[in-house]
Amino acid sequence: MALPHWDLNEIYTGCDSDDFNQALQNCQEDCTRVKALIEDNASINEIIKTWEKVLDTYETLDAYTSVLLSVETNNSDYMLALNRVSKLSLTVNNLEVIVINYLAQKKEEVLNACDNELSEYSFVLKELLEKHSHMASAEVEAIAADLNRSGTEAFSRLQEALISRTTIDYRGEEKTVTELRNLAFDKDREVRKEAFNKEVELLKKNEIAYSAAINGVKGATIALDDLHLYEPLNRSLIQSRINEKIIDALISTLEKNLPLFRKYLNKKAQMLNLDHLAFYDIFAPISEDVKRYEFEDAKAFILDKFYGFSKEMGDFASKAFENNWIDAEPRKNKVGGAYDVAFPDAGVSRVLCNFDYSYNGLSTLAHELGHAYHDSVVLPKSHLLRSYPMTLAETASIFSETIVLQGALEKASEEEKISLVETFLQDTTQVCVDILCRFYFEREVFKKRRESELSSEELCQIMVESQKKTYGTLSEYHPYMWAVKGHYYSSDFSFYNYPYAFGQLFALGVFAQKKKLGDTFVSKYRNMLEHTGKDSAKNVAALLDCDIESEEFWQSSIDIVASYVEEFMNASNNK
Ligand SMILES: [Zn+2]
Repeated sequence: MALPHWDLNEIYTGCDSDDFNQALQNCQEDCTRVKALIEDNASINEIIKTWEKVLDTYETLDAYTSVLLSVETNNSDYMLALNRVSKLSLTVNNLEVIVINYLAQKKEEVLNACDNELSEYSFVLKELLEKHSHMASAEVEAIAADLNRSGTEAFSRLQEALISRTTIDYRGEEKTVTELRNLAFDKDREVRKEAFNKEVELLKKNEIAYSAAINGVKGATIALDDLHLYEPLNRSLIQSRINEKIIDALISTLEKNLPLFRKYLNKKAQMLNLDHLAFYDIFAPISEDVKRYEFEDAKAFILDKFYGFSKEMGDFASKAFENNWIDAEPRKNKVGGAYDVAFPDAGVSRVLCNFDYSYNGLSTLAHELGHAYHDSVVLPKSHLLRSYPMTLAETASIFSETIVLQGALEKASEEEKISLVETFLQDTTQVCVDILCRFYFEREVFKKRRESELSSEELCQIMVESQKKTYGTLSEYHPYMWAVKGHYYSSDFSFYNYPYAFGQLFALGVFAQKKKLGDTFVSKYRNMLEHTGKDSAKNVAALLDCDIESEEFWQSSIDIVASYVEEFMNASNNK
């Protein structure tokens, strides 16, 4: 049976259709209306609601053109439509500045509305006011934004281009860094090792460009954060809607549990007949992918597990399958990977994946459907009340993955079990150990960059030290990981690392509450998701009795990981 393609007609009927053009025009007109309302001193309520209409329509148009392109990247009509929407983005972004300035001017009125007719908006409006209090004058902000585009964003594009376009000869074929890194999953150690050496050679060849780029980004970030009276980490915490107590509890729990992850890594080394793993062994498979899932099997399996959790989640996934919300077939000119995207004006979502008949393919689909379910819970809320931070963005997706994994383990043969558990531990080790490594690296780079530029030798040295502190003993480290990860090259998001650990462990912690809360869990879980966009992460978590400022909470998540490590030790002993 052919893999499904999605149907986008309920969003717009085409990229130059009447409904699409009408939406573009409405969005323009609503922008003008917001400005007129501001000039007329209209009520905060009316301004906010009209502004949200702009944001919803813009989000829908932007999402629509992006999804069209992602399955036909070479379609010039779609490209044209995308350009029309991105032209609109200038007006929409500019409007945001105007609205925030106005809110700050009318601070008393806004605070008053927060206590009355806009009480549900209290957190987000106060957050906007706080953001404004860190902004410089409009002229300075305009220059800063311009320089940011030609400075840090250009550096970030340079890093991306070097990673995806520069090549080196590997066994008679020209390969990019990305292609070489994919060989880390190969069964044959010689393949992995040679690919690793080539990758390092290729990165080293361009180290002058990479280090200039990272120095440029970090230098500019420090200057901008100084201007706005932030520290890089502290600004990132605000964006993530968490506080210092929470990050400290998370980081120290990760640190305390490093021995657990090393236990798994050592066992894996033993299974591969090695004294210690090298960096290029971390992703080595320890068994064949044993089971093939047809798309229909994957669908039935996911529906069974979702219905097992709640009727609502089951009905939701069933609707997504039946109404062609999913584009699963890998094909020429379609992007790789997987994502979920919401279309607020249509009140629906779509899921893209590249289904490969493996458990991994099934799990990815469950992950994205988890995101889509999250959308369905928050879409009835208005724009400002459903824009959740990245720390909470992965809650529903990883929760869904976990339900499905638990279900799969129940039925698995010994051989399947070891492969499932190992995949989970491999991913979780990345999200916990490697993320902690990236956190250490970035913290040190910011500290040193404040004093002076860093040479590539220094960057390599900090990277290897961070890897030693987190992975423990490896027979070989990867000194150039700082060149590989695009996350270090963003000035908008510094410390784009700990949110991954937060997301994964928060979802597992939520899963742990399922047992404790029993029958009340399902409705509390839904309620928690509904609040993800309109409150601090601490308050959202409290809705499920999770205290994310305490190490105990994070430990309860790690305990789930520990139970998998135990399974892995036992299963591999029996092998
Ligand atoms: Zn996700």
